[in-house]
Amino acid sequence: MGTTQGVKTFANNSKIGERCFLFEVVGISAQGGNSLNYPIRQSGNTFISVPYSRMNQEMRRINRLGGKIINITPVGIDTAVAASSSNSQNKSNSSNSKPMTQAKEKKKTNIPVNIYKPKNPYKGKCLENYELVAEGGSGTVRHLTFDLSEGDLRYLEGQSIGIIPPGTDDKGKPHKLRLYSIASTRHGDTLDDETVSLCVRQLEYQNEQGETVYGVCSTYLCNLSVDEDVAITGPVGKEMLLPDDEDATIVMLATGTGIAPFRAFLWRMFKEQEQNPDYQFKGLAWLIFGIPYTANILYKDDLEKMAADYPDNFRLTYAISREQKTDEGSKMYVQSRVSEYADELFEMIQKPKTHVYMCGLKGMEPPISETFTAEAEKRGMNWDDLRKQMKKEHRWHVEVY
Ligand SMILES: Cc1cc2nc3c(=O)[nH]c(=O)nc-3n(C[C@H](O)[C@H](O)[C@H](O)COP(=O)(O)OP(=O)(O)OC[C@H]3O[C@@H](n4cnc5c(N)ncnc54)[C@H](O)[C@@H]3O)c2cc1C
Repeated sequence: MGTTQGVKTFANNSKIGERCFLFEVVGISAQGGNSLNYPIRQSGNTFISVPYSRMNQEMRRINRLGGKIINITPVGIDTAVAASSSNSQNKSNSSNSKPMTQAKEKKKTNIPVNIYKPKNPYKGKCLENYELVAEGGSGTVRHLTFDLSEGDLRYLEGQSIGIIPPGTDDKGKPHKLRLYSIASTRHGDTLDDETVSLCVRQLEYQNEQGETVYGVCSTYLCNLSVDEDVAITGPVGKEMLLPDDEDATIVMLATGTGIAPFRAFLWRMFKEQEQNPDYQFKGLAWLIFGIPYTANILYKDDLEKMAADYPDNFRLTYAISREQKTDEGSKMYVQSRVSEYADELFEMIQKPKTHVYMCGLKGMEPPISETFTAEAEKRGMNWDDLRKQMKKEHRWHVEVY
């Protein structure tokens, strides 16, 4: 964390002896009125000391003002340590203290599905919508967050929600819903269990007449203004859930927006330990992320910070197809990396604690399968049998679209 200079405190409201937390906030703007009880800054980070009993209320107010909480630290407890060394400490802290939000851990056995159906979707306000592709990258990919505070929608990491774009299709019928992988943890980006985030690529292609066509729902979402209402259904999906095992090895193969569920996984593993006293990840997470250009590395700073902070628990490998080449001189795709690390990967996937997840464009599955088939053959193994076995053991997870 940075400096704690200029910390605003709710000292008058704090109950004696109550735990306090330091919120690090960015992007608070005075637009819309300053209803907070402390001076605000237009730029840079603001640090706010908040008593436990006011946390949810303050999160919502900061959210309403357009601010983003980027860090929450219990006052007097240093959380900026690696998961492996802090697990026992976190556990003992959490055993005699309340979790830091009123967010409750939901057991995997209770998987929420179809809480909101297309006939009666939830109307969630858009809280933020920002570009994820840096200058020089290809296409448009946006990170969107919706407010869920007025309803019952809850979800787990690895699930998807449906979005119903407004208007009608070319037959005059209301548009059908499109599914999007959830990119936030169950606690949401504002850590109050009241938001859901997506990572959406605007579909753009040339039709046979050479005209540029834009996808209906992805264009609607990418152009959505903050404060607009969105029709949301779901959640759905049980294929991509994260195992409860804190010692698991989680191999994640992503292309483009396929990063969405893995963002949720990694945030749960490495950024939200305080919110998840029952899940203190101590295993190995390995993300192999395929993108065309460096500028297309979605959530790059966060990913690289996690890799630097948790070198024993998080491994990050890029496959940047338009910039990197394999030893044979071909373009570097996710499957090229799978091939490069085949020995290690095959050692890993034979262990019962290893789960493999694949998410992204449909086209990624066949070449990855081919690579695994070839690598299995080299070892006198049959990839189909191994994959079926892993599937049976709920260790092989694919969501491609
Ligand atoms: C489980 C799941 C999770 C998903 N998660 C995400 C996610 O996290 N992020 C994300 O961005 N998307 C995700 N998608 C994809 C998303 O649901 C939509 O399909 C996507 O946004 C396009 O919808 P649209 O309404 O913009 O396009 P539409 O207007 O529905 O257009 C799509 C149609 O355009 C045509 N088309 C598309 N490309 C071409 C082409 N190159 N040439 C010719 N015709 C073409 C096809 O007929 C296609 O059916 C996910 C899909 C599934 C099933």
